[in-house]
Amino acid sequence: MAVTITSRYWNEHAETLSRDQIHTMQAAGLRALLDHIMAGDNMYSRRLKAAGVDPADIHTPEDFTALVPLTSKDDLRDEMQSTGQAMPHLCVPRSEIRLAGPSAGTSGSSTFQAFTAADLDTNIEMIARIQWAGGFRPDDVLFLMTTPFAPWAHIVREAAKRIGINWIIFDDHVVQNINRYAGTIENLRPTVMHCGLSTLRSLTADPDQTRLGDCHHVIVSGAELGPEARLEFQNRLGLEVTTISGHGSDFNLFAVECDQHDGDHWIGEENVLVEIVNPDTGLPVARGEIGEMVITDFYRRATPHLRWRTEDLFVEKTGACACGRTGRRFTCLGRASNRVTAGGRHIHPYQVEASLAQIAAGRNKEFALVRHKGDPGFLDLRIVNAARPETGNTAVEAIETHLGQELGTRVRVRFVRELSMVGYKTLRVIGPEMDPAPD
Ligand SMILES: [Zn+2]
Repeated sequence: MAVTITSRYWNEHAETLSRDQIHTMQAAGLRALLDHIMAGDNMYSRRLKAAGVDPADIHTPEDFTALVPLTSKDDLRDEMQSTGQAMPHLCVPRSEIRLAGPSAGTSGSSTFQAFTAADLDTNIEMIARIQWAGGFRPDDVLFLMTTPFAPWAHIVREAAKRIGINWIIFDDHVVQNINRYAGTIENLRPTVMHCGLSTLRSLTADPDQTRLGDCHHVIVSGAELGPEARLEFQNRLGLEVTTISGHGSDFNLFAVECDQHDGDHWIGEENVLVEIVNPDTGLPVARGEIGEMVITDFYRRATPHLRWRTEDLFVEKTGACACGRTGRRFTCLGRASNRVTAGGRHIHPYQVEASLAQIAAGRNKEFALVRHKGDPGFLDLRIVNAARPETGNTAVEAIETHLGQELGTRVRVRFVRELSMVGYKTLRVIGPEMDPAPD
């Protein structure tokens, strides 16, 4: 069955499996992973033995989640310390590794992941589904901005080639190089791009700009995007922006928006078990409740992740999607710890993004919440507004009023020229020491 450019899916069979088929494939895949892990001495086989888990008792995904303990990145770091190995979770001989590299290392010391040839093949296939859903097609010219040393850089490139994209312009992804990226877009005229949201906003900050070169589809990662902000990209710049949410640095796996824009579909549930658990108890939450995403990428053989805590909060959408994809849909709410207390309320960046997107003065602006030592009694917000500083006061007041109503607390806004970044992401919560506009 040939994929044509008008096809809705890259892999129709995989993207429209019934939930029963997925369940059966997950049961078999989890069993096979357990057999693989227990055949050797590695971090997971040691942990399962220590927890008294007998893999023979595990036949279904439900057995798996009930019996197998959660794993955190700190567990891996502890094992790295105690064994002196870079990859204590490596479950194949080194001779079988075809790709390995560090995680992006934005939080603490780097960890490492590795891939066999088969691991790579499956991962690349799943990322091709994401790119297709984001509108990438054969003969597009792709401008790929990403952290060059992480395995993701290789995988995302190979996925584009698999789709039929022959020309890939590759660059790193740091804020200091924005002018170079703008020059590349102007001169080499890519038609599709993959970058972070703050990069796209920086490249399109001039409110009089009406195009971004020849670019028509962009996949953005790294932050939430309010619905009205997505429409603004479409109306002002003719850009179809698709968000993905998930984990580039540890998993190279994401959920992707479809043309219904109602949550992000997980891609490849026949290869990966996704759970949403209560971060305090580790127990599954009811569908539609907020919880932490936990991932088991049971297709992997080199460095799989067993019930791996992502530390990111998600909420699952209920009901079927009109696009026909059967992958569960999630909305990413960001890090559990990424919030501030303001006027007695806990406020998360995703709430601020959603509210800002609703008004012109705040739409598609990068921002940060200032976390003070105690609750200052109001939300203290910094918004990047480099293009039109003269529009100052009216805009500030409009945003303060709107957000105050939306979030139920008093809001103080200050426009700033720039905000602190970590890699290609704007830090959404900053301490007073990083505040570009302190008292
Ligand atoms: Zn859909």
